[in-house]
Amino acid sequence: MIAENLEEVKKNILEACKRSGRDPQKVCLVAVSKTKPVSSIEEAIDAGQTVFGENKVQEMCSKMEVLPENLHWHMIGHLQRNKVKYILGRVDLIHSVDSLRLAQQISLEAQRQGITVPVLLEVNVAAEESKFGFSEEELMPACMEISTLPGIQVKGLMTSAPYVDCPEDNRKYFQKMAKLAVDIQSKNIDNICMEELSMGMTGDYIVAVEEGATIVRVGTAIFGSR
Ligand SMILES: *Cc1c(COP(=O)(O)O)cnc(C)c1O
Repeated sequence: MIAENLEEVKKNILEACKRSGRDPQKVCLVAVSKTKPVSSIEEAIDAGQTVFGENKVQEMCSKMEVLPENLHWHMIGHLQRNKVKYILGRVDLIHSVDSLRLAQQISLEAQRQGITVPVLLEVNVAAEESKFGFSEEELMPACMEISTLPGIQVKGLMTSAPYVDCPEDNRKYFQKMAKLAVDIQSKNIDNICMEELSMGMTGDYIVAVEEGATIVRVGTAIFGSR
């Protein structure tokens, strides 16, 4: 079941790339395994998946303990500053840097460990009350501040678009994200590059890929509903 689902998602990504003239190699599929048991992750691994996303530090760490070491883990959920130390050096990418204070904490802990930590800045692109992330207005000033912090390297932007019945409704937000990335890139800020755009979930990843997503975070379409 999970193997078939993965195949389907990968096929959809491939077709979206073809339609939009993009290189499929430039789209990374993160299988979002939050709330799902280790046995489901093992099924995905057997089907060739190696990149997984989790939104809770403790859940991620306990899954890491029992699964093979050659996997890649992405932190995709809101991260509390006091939990940063548990995941630094263990995750490939933190998608969800949503405040300056969190970036400062990551920088401190990175220096302590002597590493450089790749992160994405989360953008609340539809200005939703309930969502974490920088507003459009806050984003550039935040980039300027974060660029001065040692041990942290901004690789791009991330967003969770609104929940919609029709994925087309989110196209405008994905376009806006792509434009924000271009704007920031053009400023040539130290330690800030915009090579990654993490956007698109089960409901809208196809549209997101058409609009330039380099990372899609798909849970339900792979592992079933939660
Ligand atoms: C849960 C989650 C996803 C995956 O959502 P699905 O709709 O199940 O694909 C992606 N991104 C974030 C930040 C999430 O919390």
